[in-house]
Amino acid sequence: MGSSRFKQLKEATGLQKALLSNRLLRLIDNQILRKVLPADGQKHLEYRLTEKGVDLFQTVMSLYVWERQWGSSESRRNLELKHETCGAPLIPQPVCATCKEIVTLKDISFVEGPGLGWMPASYSRRRNQVSFSSDKPSLLRGSVEILGDRWSALIMRAIFTEMRRFDQIEADTGASPAIVTDRLKSLVDNDVLRATPYQHNPLRNEYFLTKKGFDYYFVIMMLMLWGDKYYGAEEGPPVVLTHVSCGNELTPQMTCNGCHEALLPQTVSIQPLNN
Ligand SMILES: [Zn+2]
Ligand SMILES: [Zn+2]
Repeated sequence: MGSSRFKQLKEATGLQKALLSNRLLRLIDNQILRKVLPADGQKHLEYRLTEKGVDLFQTVMSLYVWERQWGSSESRRNLELKHETCGAPLIPQPVCATCKEIVTLKDISFVEGPGLGWMPASYSRRRNQVSFSSDKPSLLRGSVEILGDRWSALIMRAIFTEMRRFDQIEADTGASPAIVTDRLKSLVDNDVLRATPYQHNPLRNEYFLTKKGFDYYFVIMMLMLWGDKYYGAEEGPPVVLTHVSCGNELTPQMTCNGCHEALLPQTVSIQPLNN
């Protein structure tokens, strides 16, 4: 996957349907992929990942895990991965880069960091936000949209941190009531959230992540970590993650379920299934 011609990429992944399909040109625009002339003298340009792209690969692997578990039957059927290093069919596993144990969201604690407030619009728990300067790329906003828009991601984060009621979610995200209403409905319709009434007259709900939503939030977290690294505020990350079981600051790393090596784009290949 580190280097592929567009046609091969397209054929291998069924890019018309894959989640990343319409992102390819945007990725090139944002220096994640670069075009290079192949060494073998052929005419077709190849696409190679930059360092930023290699880092994004971690997020793509976590997205793949979610898609495999929760995506449409079509996307589950069409894409299997192989780890070239050990030859095994690959199901990527997130581990803590320090202690190498498998991490789940339950093992992670979140503390607000020095750069909190980098999110655009009025998102902030403290109102010290840093706005995007106009020459900064818009990929952060775009990348969050891979799984929904940034409001959905912020609403998910609010609920993950146990802000379950409409007013709390509205205050935490800084979204307008209309946006909160709309995104909550869409997230519930997609079985990412479930709504449970805590009051009946008038009806008021509390929102909880479903298992599907919990898994989805892990991908959002990976995406946010990547966004912090490349587009974050100079003060530091908005949220610092700790791996609770080892006590270290968490850097999640996607590894092979067979040989436990860290995954690099050039060691992962796609196995298209022909059924
Ligand atoms: Zn650890
Ligand atoms: Zn392996």
